[in-house]
Amino acid sequence: MKILILIALAAGLAAQQPATTAPPKEAGDDKRGYTDTPQIPGQKWKVHDAARPRPRKMTPGLPLPNEAPPSDAVVLFNGKDLSQWVAMLRGGKTQEPQWKVENGYMEIVPRTGRLVTKEKFGDCQLHVEWMIPKDVQGAGQSRGNSGVELMMRYEVQVLESSENLTYADGQAASIYGQWPPLVNVSRPQGEWNIYDIFFDAPRFEGEKLVKPGYVTIVHNGVLVNHHQAILGAAVHRRVAKYTPHGPEEPLSLQDHGQTVRYRNIWIRRLKPYDEQ
Ligand code: MG
Repeated sequence: MKILILIALAAGLAAQQPATTAPPKEAGDDKRGYTDTPQIPGQKWKVHDAARPRPRKMTPGLPLPNEAPPSDAVVLFNGKDLSQWVAMLRGGKTQEPQWKVENGYMEIVPRTGRLVTKEKFGDCQLHVEWMIPKDVQGAGQSRGNSGVELMMRYEVQVLESSENLTYADGQAASIYGQWPPLVNVSRPQGEWNIYDIFFDAPRFEGEKLVKPGYVTIVHNGVLVNHHQAILGAAVHRRVAKYTPHGPEEPLSLQDHGQTVRYRNIWIRRLKPYDEQ
């Protein structure tokens, strides 16, 4: 009895001790991928699976001319100013954007907050051009990481993926942590990439998801994700899930602490047939 009490006491004490052992090491890394992450529902792969094949690399055609947005587009960035955006820091505090604007593009000033549109959008067609400057260094998820965050949460990844290795569901044009692009058409550092994104926002009734979001992504003129169902908000090393939100939410550009440039950003609200 005495021994049992002693054991119980010791166990109690041990539970109160601060952990002296380091947390278990992650199996894998952001270049090779991981082997200890959860299964993605409906797929044969785990989140950021190290065994998931990297999409075939190919060369896109010539850039599509896109000097003037369609007349019903909301121009979010025309190369001159950030008047359509606010900066949002971790924790949600907003401030004037600090990103640089020069030579017709904006450039991330790392850790000054992601850029969030003042207007909100639901179903949309979105055009975004991005470039990783030539002198950007780093590897895996640390080489030109940013992202086009639909409704501030469904991330189309922006990353140097022309040469830089990372897990398949985290390279450029992936729906982060869920679907890789069908092929890898990334242009090298110093060249502009073009995304044309077609997005059906998810629908909620109260707390319940009644229809997931769907996204189609055209990268440099090549279809790389085709009306793909989004599993939930982008998340690292976990399975994405939905949290209810409004029918329209702002668009954001991720500040992942690295330098990326953007230009020529416009968006069109999509209305159902016969509804203008
Ligand atoms: Mg990103």
